[in-house]
Amino acid sequence: MAEKFSGTSFPAALDGGAHDVQFLDTTLRDGEQAPGVSLTADQKATVARKLDAAGVSVVEAGSACTSAGERETIRRVTGLDLDATVTSFCRGVKRDVELALDCGVDGVNLVVPASDRHVEGKVGTSRESVLDTTRELVEYATDHGLWVEVIGEDGSRADDSFLDELAETSADAGADRFCVADTVGHASPERVYDLVASASEYGPVSVHTHDDLGLAVTNALAGVAAGADLVHATVNGVGERAGNVALEEVAVALWHCYDLEPVDTEQLYDLASTVAEATGVPLPPNKAVSGENAFAHESGIHTDGTLKDDRMYEPYPPEAVGRERRLVLGKHAGRAGVRAALAEHDVEVTDDELADVVERVNELGERGKRVTDADLLAVADDVRGDGRDRRVEVLDLTAASGGGTPTASVRLRVDDDEYSAAGTGSGPVDAAMTAVRDALGDVTFHLEEYHVDAITGGTDAVVTVHVTVSRGDRTVTVDASDADITAASVTAVVEALDRLLPEQEAATAAD
Ligand SMILES: [Zn+2]
Repeated sequence: MAEKFSGTSFPAALDGGAHDVQFLDTTLRDGEQAPGVSLTADQKATVARKLDAAGVSVVEAGSACTSAGERETIRRVTGLDLDATVTSFCRGVKRDVELALDCGVDGVNLVVPASDRHVEGKVGTSRESVLDTTRELVEYATDHGLWVEVIGEDGSRADDSFLDELAETSADAGADRFCVADTVGHASPERVYDLVASASEYGPVSVHTHDDLGLAVTNALAGVAAGADLVHATVNGVGERAGNVALEEVAVALWHCYDLEPVDTEQLYDLASTVAEATGVPLPPNKAVSGENAFAHESGIHTDGTLKDDRMYEPYPPEAVGRERRLVLGKHAGRAGVRAALAEHDVEVTDDELADVVERVNELGERGKRVTDADLLAVADDVRGDGRDRRVEVLDLTAASGGGTPTASVRLRVDDDEYSAAGTGSGPVDAAMTAVRDALGDVTFHLEEYHVDAITGGTDAVVTVHVTVSRGDRTVTVDASDADITAASVTAVVEALDRLLPEQEAATAAD
């Protein structure tokens, strides 16, 4: 019979915070190397500030040798005066270190080839010469007051004894640390464990993992268990090929499983959303920690269980990572879930009404439709037979895009008042949205999601616009269809706002 897993297990090494673990975030360098990703200086500054606020220790801001534009974006980050150590990636050439110094960085991530494939095949040199260059450059960088990490590129495919020599040479030359890099996401957790444990004989070690085998988080934890005290990661795991290890996933695993909290987990969702928006790489709905469905419960039984005990179908509360639980309605929706969803909008129904609402929600779900909050409220209004008073309504909309700057004007009613405004934009829809925002003034909102489905046909086809709009901590998703895309867009947003504004006090309504 097989024995239970024991010995030098991850928990044995990690439990009770055997040693401190910190993060090096490389979203702005390795993450930016993902196909199609390019961040502006402003975007880098925003992400860097949030990483710093969350408690990330080292922010790798870019690669100074890339271009003058890249150096400008690195300077924006070094100019922020963060608590974090700000570094630049440098190849094993002196010029790269000089360019990094020009950007005012605190440190450098000096990458030198470790595997023979890289030593001979890519750089065309010898192991001896790699050791010499490493020694020289580490001394040069430390002489200039830089924090220095030596990364042995492709370390997981290197000869073990050479990786050790590289770690020893780096430490002897005065490097602050050595990084074991699983550059192509090739290693097993045991391999990472062994390499990190061995390199740790010479000094502090970092671990850099990629997700090509889906092992990035496991391998990062294996590295930590073996003694690594700095984990390289990117937010959302953005990076080349299958990506780097996701910072939020390692952070949550360290916190939830091992009681270590190197970063403020409550800021993880905001970081994830910020990076998804800046990189244009959307979050998969089933992504751990930050995916749309990570804390959503749809099926009747799960919803019922969750309402009885929040933790029933969740490993940890969504608030721990800055999120909220969502109950999603569809063909599996049950009475408890529907009643709870209505209660979120302060709608109370009798048992008979509830049965009708559930039946109609299930019917919508069976037709493959996702039941939005607005759908649910419309169904409830219908069942209760008391068409709710609208608070916001479109009275008039005109848009023009021929020949000049696209412009639009709207006239809206909010309660008893009328507001109008005109706006310009990159197209008529954008112009109309600007006009709506202007007309509404203080009634601010956030357009979380916007997309359009055209029903196939001619150019007169009806389009359906889907919007997700939030105000404070409330969010609604609404669809609107029209032959005119601008009209559909404005209708959807205004409908969403109508749902998001609290119902007027009864006294005012009765006047
Ligand atoms: Zn990498």
